[in-house]
Amino acid sequence: MVGWGYSKANGPATWPAMYPVAGGKRQSPIDIKADACQGNCGLNKIQASYSGIKVSELSNSGHSWKAQIGSGTSSLRSGPLGSDEYVLEQFHCHWGNANDHGSEHTVDGKCYAAELHLVHWNKSKFSSFAEAAASDGGLAVLGIFLTVGEEHPEMNKITKMLPFIQHKGQAITITDIVEPAAFLPKNRTYWTYAGSLTTPPCYESVTWIVYKHPITISQEQMGAFRSLKSYHPCEDCPQDELAGALVENYRPPCPLYDRTIKVFKDSQEEE
Ligand SMILES: [Zn+2]
Repeated sequence: MVGWGYSKANGPATWPAMYPVAGGKRQSPIDIKADACQGNCGLNKIQASYSGIKVSELSNSGHSWKAQIGSGTSSLRSGPLGSDEYVLEQFHCHWGNANDHGSEHTVDGKCYAAELHLVHWNKSKFSSFAEAAASDGGLAVLGIFLTVGEEHPEMNKITKMLPFIQHKGQAITITDIVEPAAFLPKNRTYWTYAGSLTTPPCYESVTWIVYKHPITISQEQMGAFRSLKSYHPCEDCPQDELAGALVENYRPPCPLYDRTIKVFKDSQEEE
């Protein structure tokens, strides 16, 4: 059996057949219509703090690179999360094969080149990531848009290791301390809404927090993402339109249905 992926044969349009919730009414990503967002709704700034974070395993899942957190302390709270505390489990990215598309969320139809996801789970209400991922209120994901421009020094800790995990199933340890807060934009304006995982099983357990302002990575760093392969080293290269390249690994926007998107404006935000 061929697993899920991003080609025509196994891509997002085919997911609901295998994962019925993927056809639900609380799916992600979405197109954020900036003018339709609710402001002045009592939201405050997100409190995100990380210290001594080590990545126990940087792996190629065949769908993205994924940095699994091994040790250190993290705390995500406030904003739409109430008094619960969420902790960082992993982070990964979605990107295109060219710089004019690749993000999962879009803003008034505009795509960014890539989108970074910092995945947190609710430690106040659940006892494991797996339990939280399948439960309402279980996850909070920070979404950060990436554009191509200046190099991002912190991202080098990831991109310099990607040559060692070119194929699906390969993994390596990162010995450097990683500072996830370095991936957050300076201007902290965000949109928030109730959504889902953007990959199967597409559980509807995610409070999304999508930052409005992008960060930049260099063309070379983007090239390192695109150099990854979506298949195992001992497998034949897939004969599909992606030809085994790990690119175009984003799900297009899903319908909003009756959900509302709220906005928190950073004090630096211009009207
Ligand atoms: Zn993601």
